[in-house]
Amino acid sequence: MKKGKEGARLSMVELKNVSVTYASSGVDALNNVSLKINDGDFAFVVGSSGAGKSTMIKLILKEIDATSGSVIVNGYNLDKLKRRKIPEFRRTIGFVFQDFRLIPSMTVYENVAFVLRVIDAPRKYIRKRVPYVISLVGLQAKANSYPNELSGGEKQRVAIARALVNDPKLIIADEPTGNIDPELSYEIVELLKGINECGTTILMVTHEHDLVRHFGGRIINITQGEVVFDEVIGGANEV
Ligand code: ADP
Repeated sequence: MKKGKEGARLSMVELKNVSVTYASSGVDALNNVSLKINDGDFAFVVGSSGAGKSTMIKLILKEIDATSGSVIVNGYNLDKLKRRKIPEFRRTIGFVFQDFRLIPSMTVYENVAFVLRVIDAPRKYIRKRVPYVISLVGLQAKANSYPNELSGGEKQRVAIARALVNDPKLIIADEPTGNIDPELSYEIVELLKGINECGTTILMVTHEHDLVRHFGGRIINITQGEVVFDEVIGGANEV
């Protein structure tokens, strides 16, 4: 977490009295949720299936709009954000998905470089930046491997490198350990924690209570569309 006065830290995500009702089903997925994630935070979002976690992530990415209330992410007021500005806004966020979403026909290096190529980053920068982020996730030796040659944990490391390559202020990890072996889950969270210590704000959705208990930190529990718990707890790995 960045140093400085609590009040001086910028908020990266701010939901103010947000409700979402899906018109198709009439379901109230979020009900008057207010929440702030500050610059440098690492927060776990937990809650059972159907609680509203994905709805919250979709709101933050502006995949859906709030029925009422306001959503501000990385300084963008999403209620007012023009459609043509959405790609620019999304590039300020790195995503890590449960199912990795790597391109099978591309090597590790190419999967990561692709993010910079689509925004026309200078080639010289790509040649420096890509090996650097691949080394940050400890995959130098696999840079020329294809996704089908990697373990689940390694695939997720590539996905984290890809999320990092654009130097986002905020990373959203949606069940990043859902498809990997439990022992490796700890390594993935360690990696995200290390990235957080370098200043990137991280919001991680998980239903793995053991992980949350082990690492501790800020835990936001969503139940039936409401934030029922939002506190910092000590982890089991702390003395
Ligand atoms: P979680 O991610 O915690 O499992 P969701 O945010 O996916 O929960 O779902 C919250 C509620 O909203 C659930 O009752 C779900 O059935 C409903 N819901 C989610 N997506 C849609 C949708 N696209 N259309 C209608 N109802 C939806």
